[in-house]
Amino acid sequence: MVLNIGEVPQGSGFWWDFSMALGFAGMAMMGVQFFLTARFKRASAPFGIDIIYYFHRYLAIAAFIFIFLHFLIIRIDNVEALGVINPFEAPWYMTTGRISLLLFMLLILSSLFRKQLKIEYETWRITHIVIAVSAFLLALSHIEGVGYYIADPEKRWLWTAYTLFFVLLMVYVRIIKPWGMKKHPYKVVEVKKEFGDSYTLALEPEGHAGMHFKAGQFAWLTLKDSPYHIKEHPFSFSSSPHKNRIEFTIKELGDFTKTIKDTPIGEIAYLDGPYGTFSVENYPDAPGFVFITAGVGAAPIMSMLRSLADKKDKRPLVLLDINNDWESIIFRDELEEMQNHLNLKLIHLLTKADDSWQGEKGRISKELFQRILPKDLRELEYFICGPKPVSDATQKELYGLKVPLGKVHFELFDMV
Ligand SMILES: Cc1cc2nc3c(=O)[nH]c(=O)nc-3n(C[C@H](O)[C@H](O)[C@H](O)COP(=O)(O)OP(=O)(O)OC[C@H]3O[C@@H](n4cnc5c(N)ncnc54)[C@H](O)[C@@H]3O)c2cc1C
Repeated sequence: MVLNIGEVPQGSGFWWDFSMALGFAGMAMMGVQFFLTARFKRASAPFGIDIIYYFHRYLAIAAFIFIFLHFLIIRIDNVEALGVINPFEAPWYMTTGRISLLLFMLLILSSLFRKQLKIEYETWRITHIVIAVSAFLLALSHIEGVGYYIADPEKRWLWTAYTLFFVLLMVYVRIIKPWGMKKHPYKVVEVKKEFGDSYTLALEPEGHAGMHFKAGQFAWLTLKDSPYHIKEHPFSFSSSPHKNRIEFTIKELGDFTKTIKDTPIGEIAYLDGPYGTFSVENYPDAPGFVFITAGVGAAPIMSMLRSLADKKDKRPLVLLDINNDWESIIFRDELEEMQNHLNLKLIHLLTKADDSWQGEKGRISKELFQRILPKDLRELEYFICGPKPVSDATQKELYGLKVPLGKVHFELFDMV
């Protein structure tokens, strides 16, 4: 649209113009990526931040294909226009264009194949931000340098405003937002050992009212460092939102989570949140809820159960808690006790049970769900949280039982 404002430059043949249109469209889509990942609560609330991140991933791939085609079409249709590759002889804006194309490619490949390339999450995240900003700014400078399509004053003005918008967005994400978090610190008040190699980290607000969240939501946690630091990890609240004290239950898994047990009492923490749509509170009229969880996926479910207990909710609840063995059931004592306050049917499914185990064992199946779910199973709201294979298998069985799609909600702990 911007390209059609003011005087439209002479066309230069279909393929040339098409290639330019692809380049501009790709860049507009790349710009949107910064907005998508800025974690604006209002913008992400209707979809959930995990969906936003998936959208970010696929839109970025589409944007890259557009930008790559922009280059490829010129390469095939009018190779002379690209000039020499040697950066000492080529115009500077052609070199910035080439470098940005390579950086965009690196960005996409390193994100799609991070695990296969064995790139650590933290290393990937920092380089992802640096490469994304560099590639975007270099591509903008390429457009400015070529200048032909934005020569008209109105277009130049709009293009500069577009550039400025993204620079301000970066300033907001990296400076203003952390500054807001710095004014709302939390203090670690307890680190409690749980079953299943997990620890509950309890925080209390320092000099402010704390955070209002819905049971089942999550926040990004930064410990030790200042909120300006890039090292932050997402964790679901495991506590009830009706308490002043905020708790996260964290399973030892990698570099950061293995340090939780050594967190000193009094340590300052910063939270960015709340985020997510995985909450019973979004379904106040549901006749009942079914929770299916595996391992530490129990954390957001526990927040919901604790919240329902605090509100003395009497609706029927079913919890299928899947773990390897009895020792891995993180909240097993409290869950037993909760049955006294809630209308809760608790089923433990052990995948590596020994012969002495009398309860459910093995894998989830249609028969299991038929056995444990009430007759009105299609009326209930379902919340699934666990590793992707468990989540996928559960959804498949539920759809097989004709549970409507809109009643099945899931949270994955692996959004990147
Ligand atoms: C919405 C959401 C809620 C979560 N809630 C919980 C919870 O309640 N309890 C719990 O124990 N775990 C939870 N997790 C998972 C937790 O964030 C990761 O296990 C943790 O960040 C791993 O960090 P690490 O350095 O210890 O492990 P690493 O070995 O560095 O990472 C293991 C894997 O965790 C993921 N990961 C690592 N760092 C981050 C990060 N900063 N942001 C996003 N993903 C990352 C990556 O996929 C990585 O491959 C949640 C994740 C998400 C996305």
